[in-house]
Amino acid sequence: MDYKDLANLIFPKAKEISYYEEKYPRRDLKEGAIVTRYAPSPTGVMHIGGLYQALIAKKMARQTEGVFFVRIEDTDQKREIKNGTSEILTSLKHFGLEPDEGMISDIEEKGKYGPYKQSQRKEIYQAYAKYLIEQGKAYPCFCTTEELGSIRKKQEEAKIRPGYYGIWAKCRNYTVEQMAEKIKNGEQYIIRFKSPGREDKKIKHKDVIKGNVEFPENDQDIVIIKADGLPTYHFAHIVDDHLMGTTHVIRGDEWLSSVPLHLQLFYELGFKAPKYAHIAPIMKNDNGNKRKLSKRKDPEAAVNYYEKEGISEKAVEEYLLNIANSTFENWRRANADRDITEFELHLNKMGVSGALFDMVKLLDVGKTVISKFTAKEVYEEAFNWAKKYDKELEKMLQNKELSLKIFGIERENKKPRKDIAKWSEVKENIEYMYDEHFLEKEQEYPYQVINKKEDINKILSLYMEKYYDEKDDKQTWFNKIKYLAEEMGYAKEVKEFKENPGKYKAHVGDVSTVLRVALTSKTNTPDMYEIMQVLGKDSIKKRFEKAKSERNHI
Ligand code: GLU
Repeated sequence: MDYKDLANLIFPKAKEISYYEEKYPRRDLKEGAIVTRYAPSPTGVMHIGGLYQALIAKKMARQTEGVFFVRIEDTDQKREIKNGTSEILTSLKHFGLEPDEGMISDIEEKGKYGPYKQSQRKEIYQAYAKYLIEQGKAYPCFCTTEELGSIRKKQEEAKIRPGYYGIWAKCRNYTVEQMAEKIKNGEQYIIRFKSPGREDKKIKHKDVIKGNVEFPENDQDIVIIKADGLPTYHFAHIVDDHLMGTTHVIRGDEWLSSVPLHLQLFYELGFKAPKYAHIAPIMKNDNGNKRKLSKRKDPEAAVNYYEKEGISEKAVEEYLLNIANSTFENWRRANADRDITEFELHLNKMGVSGALFDMVKLLDVGKTVISKFTAKEVYEEAFNWAKKYDKELEKMLQNKELSLKIFGIERENKKPRKDIAKWSEVKENIEYMYDEHFLEKEQEYPYQVINKKEDINKILSLYMEKYYDEKDDKQTWFNKIKYLAEEMGYAKEVKEFKENPGKYKAHVGDVSTVLRVALTSKTNTPDMYEIMQVLGKDSIKKRFEKAKSERNHI
């Protein structure tokens, strides 16, 4: 009996690996093309760190005319959550991170290197496990949970490294005959990798992001095929990344310390290892302490938070690029109108330690991003968001004509107004422009310099009767406010007012403020001429009447 017989006994039906090596040919891509992937496990809601990894992976593939694929790593079926896969894929789509290949829904996939769901690749892993057994590089382990527990206990008591290695790896020393006999007797087993490593030797690794790192060699005989016949993550991803032609493994740095094991597995299987790029996690400043963004403590750690809050996916993407490369900020300054796809990301310029997540900055990016949208785009995005999350806003936006005009104020010009950071702010931002909201509610009127009821009412009446004309252009409109100021005995020009202190009680600007406050109940609004154009005569009149009859002016 030899290793080959043992392998046949364990996996009688498994194919030769040459079958798979031929089925999945090398990719024919141009030199330097990066083939990379996002490989989530569907074990919980998607974390912003996962989105960050996917964004970086896709960008690197795009930049090099490579391939970005999504592989679902669902071999730990006990931890899998309902709808885990579809939620991840929906989030990726929402953020424009659809893969070139791989899973596109819970049940559909595209691409020639599939299946892209690990639970459907069982035979493939078994073929490669068989291949290792044939060479004496993997073996069946018959240790029971109790035995493993007692090994761990002994190791703890002796204060030595835990694990299944060296003298503790009892099953690696059985002869092929002994193993075969146990199997024939029906003993339960799993398959372990027979590590050739030594803990007292070091391996050097050059990580694309972390740079040179040194670790002790792996000497653990890790499990590669579990009792349910499925592989462990470590083994599965080696086989997959080999067959799928991955050139770069871009993943979270919690995996950095597994590199010695992974390189060893690649080597023992006779595969060329890909490059590794380990991304530092996104951190949060928690009262002066820097810690990882946590799904339990921080709502903003979950990707669906951004959608619920109405933070534009474009803003999130742009902000994540900001975190990824510090050069992004300068690039953006110099290229304000370029699309982020034109920014060239460099993996080796990514921070070795985690970047701090800053919501204020993200919302600021959001303002800039949204300021560049057309009125129609703002309308559509806000409306789509409202349909899901804000019935009242949805109702307001059903008046499409008015809404488009409102969103058009100070927009689609060289210096657009930056007043919306996220869709959940829209209602508060534009509510006052809708008569049904403004007129029906009691309003506060924060008048400033000119604040006597009598003066205010006179300004409002005179303006409506004598000066307001819907057809006026902006200059004429403004001149008329000057004439009104003059008629009321205020300075027509601010300059005049400043030159003659004491002569005037107020100036044209103060008259404008009265009109503004009466119209909107705000002291600070977008351009008043545009507001009046949007509201129209009827609404302006009603608003002035309301202001005149209101008692609670400040
Ligand atoms: N399934 C692993 C995870 O979710 C993927 C790690 C990798 O990208 O290799 O962390």
